[in-house]
Amino acid sequence: MNPPAHWPFADGDVDTRFVQPYEATKTYLCPGCEQEIPPRSHHIVAVPRHAPELRRHWHRSCWDRRHHRKPRGLR
Ligand SMILES: [Zn+2]
Repeated sequence: MNPPAHWPFADGDVDTRFVQPYEATKTYLCPGCEQEIPPRSHHIVAVPRHAPELRRHWHRSCWDRRHHRKPRGLR
């Protein structure tokens, strides 16, 4: 997995919200794993406080693990 280089926001600058399956009507691309989030799935939307237009949708597990990702090739 690649580090989310396109997600340069500190946690304190981001509001997160759970998206319920009935609210999820589109397919989103998760920045954590670069896989699609299918419609009707429970996920998280993360909204930078100072750049709300850059909000992204994440799988819950990817959001939880965003700090625990190791650089590729390192152990
Ligand atoms: Zn993901």
